[in-house]
Amino acid sequence: MADSNALLKAVEEELTKRSLRLRFTEMVEVRFEADTQQQRSRNMVWAGLISALIYVLFLFNDYSFRPDAFTTAVLLRAGLMLAVGLPILWWVYRGVTPALREAMMSMTVITAMVISCMIFAASSAPYSYLDVFSFGLILVVGNIVYSLRFGYACVSSIISILIMLVFVVSYEPMPIEAKRLAMFTIVAKAMFTLVANYRLEFSERNSYLLVLREKLRAGYYLQDNQKLSYLSMTDPLTDISNRRKFDAILPIRWQEGIDRNESLGLMVVDIDHFKAYNDYYGHLQGDQCLRQVSAALQVNSRNSDLVVRFGGEEFVILMPSTSSHVARQEAERLRHSIEALQIPHQGCLERNIITVSVGAAVITPTIALMPNELLARADLALYEAKRQGRNCIWVASSVD
Ligand code: GH3
Ligand code: MG
Ligand code: MG
Repeated sequence: MADSNALLKAVEEELTKRSLRLRFTEMVEVRFEADTQQQRSRNMVWAGLISALIYVLFLFNDYSFRPDAFTTAVLLRAGLMLAVGLPILWWVYRGVTPALREAMMSMTVITAMVISCMIFAASSAPYSYLDVFSFGLILVVGNIVYSLRFGYACVSSIISILIMLVFVVSYEPMPIEAKRLAMFTIVAKAMFTLVANYRLEFSERNSYLLVLREKLRAGYYLQDNQKLSYLSMTDPLTDISNRRKFDAILPIRWQEGIDRNESLGLMVVDIDHFKAYNDYYGHLQGDQCLRQVSAALQVNSRNSDLVVRFGGEEFVILMPSTSSHVARQEAERLRHSIEALQIPHQGCLERNIITVSVGAAVITPTIALMPNELLARADLALYEAKRQGRNCIWVASSVD
């Protein structure tokens, strides 16, 4: 919760002070990588495979332009390039650190440039050097198809241009005008593709921030709603369910009873002579006593039962799939568990400890009856338990 709070704040800051830098603050950057890494690696591997295929298909071009160096071209394209490229794609696919992923993918761009230069330079065929005008495609692959992170795109483009420069300058058969045009063209292509690369990464990061902000906010509202709903259904003094929760659950259990033809039990537990307790010990001590009693009821009831503070010093326990016989046992168990707490009650002359009276009722629900009938019968049973002298239980005779 605290983490997502800090992250949301960091994301909102990133969005307001949106700088031209292609890097988030550490916390957001880590999350960005974690969320996008897998998809990015997959995309790069696919792009790499398609580029490798096209790179090998350029053998057709080698065959027609430079038959004298065709064997070399086969060895370099299908041998060396794939020998370098495919293991890199495999590693990236398996997952490596972000820096290594970008560096290795940049390596495939640089390798492709070296190999392409070696191929055209290996031939003295008249049009062999014309290939250099297509080398911009290699930069298109790195900067747009892979969409290398901007820094890596810049470095790999510069290195590729320098490599090409070395080969072009030293290649005798190429006229100087063609060399100049080739270099100018590759630099221009590098610049265009780098601008596109920057814009791609910038908008990728921006959309990521917007989506993440919405996700974090949605998580918040959800948590807030869950918290509110919990609070509205919980008694603040004793921290157990309150009457609102009971009102929500009773119709559900009632309907289940109808559907499964199972009986539904309910107990009303009332602390004996509690007014006298308050008068003797004061309200604060009375509150403490209520907490002790509610905790004991909660601990000693079954997991399937719903324990509710109904109001004042009165608790209600809803017991699904419970027969009269079992309800009686449960009522007696709870009554005894309170007696066993041995909470002193000097204000009560009869027993000197806190006790409860329990009224229970069991009904097999039908559509002809209303759920409140169960509560009314348990209330009458409680009245009877009080009449019988308190610290005892009374189970209403079951009517099915
Ligand atoms: P009986 O054995 O017949 O149930 O007698 P009683 O005194 O328990 O019943 P009565 O209904 O006369 O008194 C209930 C008392 O419960 C009165 C009220 O001061 C006290 N009470 C109700 N809610 C709270 C509460 O939240 N805190 C405290 N300390 N006392 C409460
Ligand atoms: Mg009472
Ligand atoms: Mg009462």
